[in-house]
Amino acid sequence: MIECTNCETAQFLQIVRSRVYFEDGEVINEISERYECTLCNATGTYARSDDNDVEVTGDITVTTERPKYA
Ligand SMILES: [Zn+2]
Repeated sequence: MIECTNCETAQFLQIVRSRVYFEDGEVINEISERYECTLCNATGTYARSDDNDVEVTGDITVTTERPKYA
């Protein structure tokens, strides 16, 4: 999941822009998301390419914690 590096929580992050890429009319596995922390106003972007390369810039960080499914 994605956290604010200042607040060390994902609680106040919201996606302000999300972009999904298309190729020949089909969604490919490549996304770009811009996050904003409503608590400290930090911003950051998260991008993942179609070969699962993740690039994070700004005041956000990706934690290795994964959502649990019962
Ligand atoms: Zn924050």
